[in-house]
Amino acid sequence: MAKVVVLGSGFAGHTAAAYLRKNLGKEHEIVVVTPNSKFQYIPSNIWIGTGKMTPRQTTFPLAPVYKRKNITFKQAKVLTFHPEGDKELDKPYVLVEYTGGNKQGEKEKVTYDYLINATGPKLDFAATEGLFPGKNKTVSVCSFDHAEHAWKELKALIDRMKKGEHVKIVIGTGHANATCQGAAFEYILNVDDTLRKHGVRDKADITWISNEYHVGEFGMNEMYFKFGGKVWSGQDLAEFLFEDRGIKYITQAGIYKVEDGVAYYENLHGEQGKVEFDFGMLIPKFSGHGFKAYDKEGNDITDKLFKAFMIVDADYTPKPYEEWSAKDWPETYQNPTYPNIFAAGIAFHPPHTISQPRVSKTGKNITPAPPRTGMPSGIIGRLVAENVAHMIKTGSKTPKEKGSMANMGAGCVASTGYGFFTGSAVVMMLYPIVPDFDKYPKYGREVKSAYYGLAGHWMKKMLHHLFIYKNKLKFGWSLIPE
Ligand SMILES: Cc1cc2nc3c(=O)[nH]c(=O)nc-3n(C[C@H](O)[C@H](O)[C@H](O)COP(=O)(O)OP(=O)(O)OC[C@H]3O[C@@H](n4cnc5c(N)ncnc54)[C@H](O)[C@@H]3O)c2cc1C
Repeated sequence: MAKVVVLGSGFAGHTAAAYLRKNLGKEHEIVVVTPNSKFQYIPSNIWIGTGKMTPRQTTFPLAPVYKRKNITFKQAKVLTFHPEGDKELDKPYVLVEYTGGNKQGEKEKVTYDYLINATGPKLDFAATEGLFPGKNKTVSVCSFDHAEHAWKELKALIDRMKKGEHVKIVIGTGHANATCQGAAFEYILNVDDTLRKHGVRDKADITWISNEYHVGEFGMNEMYFKFGGKVWSGQDLAEFLFEDRGIKYITQAGIYKVEDGVAYYENLHGEQGKVEFDFGMLIPKFSGHGFKAYDKEGNDITDKLFKAFMIVDADYTPKPYEEWSAKDWPETYQNPTYPNIFAAGIAFHPPHTISQPRVSKTGKNITPAPPRTGMPSGIIGRLVAENVAHMIKTGSKTPKEKGSMANMGAGCVASTGYGFFTGSAVVMMLYPIVPDFDKYPKYGREVKSAYYGLAGHWMKKMLHHLFIYKNKLKFGWSLIPE
């Protein structure tokens, strides 16, 4: 009998736990350790943050799902890693602290044969002075409760606008190395749409601010797609959507400080700037959790398991941008020192950014971190789970399947407005996620067709229901792709 412990129950961890259960007999124990009692379908936070959905529609309790599937659920957070055990316990374990239920506050050593770390990012608001949801007129949509608060603030602002007040709205990234531009992009377009539906769009200046080299770069090192028989860039698309809606934009901006309704930034020219707002949604830096690891004797071995995120089979050798290769990206997500430890989703440390790194004239690095969206997080969660199941069944120490983000595609359905008859979204496929200029010298990727319009909204809404169904692990869940 083997025991597999999965840390985290987001796209990567929840998917991994589900596929472990699917692929392993009842004699094997699967344990999920996660501080949250509910699964949250994060992409729909955009709609919570504009009052189109409530958290009830985008979340569900994990305990009944795991009980039905015979997965042990511990509502707890991992504190430290002990991959060799310690002097008292001769087994690898993670030290966890319960965050809910009748054991809340208690600590426990959770032993494992295999460990999958899918703890995602730490939302590092502290990396930007003064940035925190509810402080200095800023909000966030990174979790369902943040998004609920964002809607409360936006609604109050709309009420002020209805009374005739003119306001300033700023949306984008709140740190020089933030990622997740796509989510902020969806949010700004949905905020614009919401103001129009409330008849107050003329009462607001809306500004996009980001660390991208130009709009529509999304931390992806340029994106190209076919539309109407022509090749368009992400920049063409974003500029079109912003111009069409009267949204101003500031790029190459590394925000470092927020005060009451003012964000301060430096740009790549080394110039200092500031932007004022009554409502600011600025995505924080996504950092590692700062976990520590110890060997059997209690010595600190954090550098064997973690850089900022978990070390896996990537090529981390520092090299200039010109020497980056698709081969730098990990394929099995296995830790090189401890082959029974894996990382999935945002929890693995990437070899480098996807965007070309850029430094300002004063030496400040203003480069988006590499986005790892829901689809690759789910795919990697599944891949790791299937490899662990294979290793358990065969006794092999080597994972069977490989899947790098440099040979993995991702679908992107970006909401640009909500409504059964009045909604719209951009639908794009990207292959591969990490550009491979050896294989695709011109664009780094295949150039796929894109779609923009009402049917995109229906697709986005359908995906919401489909993924909630899938993640509840209901009948036929595994037939729905990640
Ligand atoms: C507003 C928004 C909109 C988005 N929209 C889209 C979209 O439309 N399409 C798309 O593909 N992607 C989208 N994304 C990105 C997507 O949400 C992420 O790629 C995805 O959530 C990453 O999955 P993950 O499992 O790696 O991390 P997470 O989803 O962050 O999950 C991490 C898990 O680890 C748990 N955890 C944290 N700390 C600990 C600890 N100490 N111990 C144990 N567990 C811990 C957390 O509670 C959570 O359960 C969006 C993101 C945001 C913020």
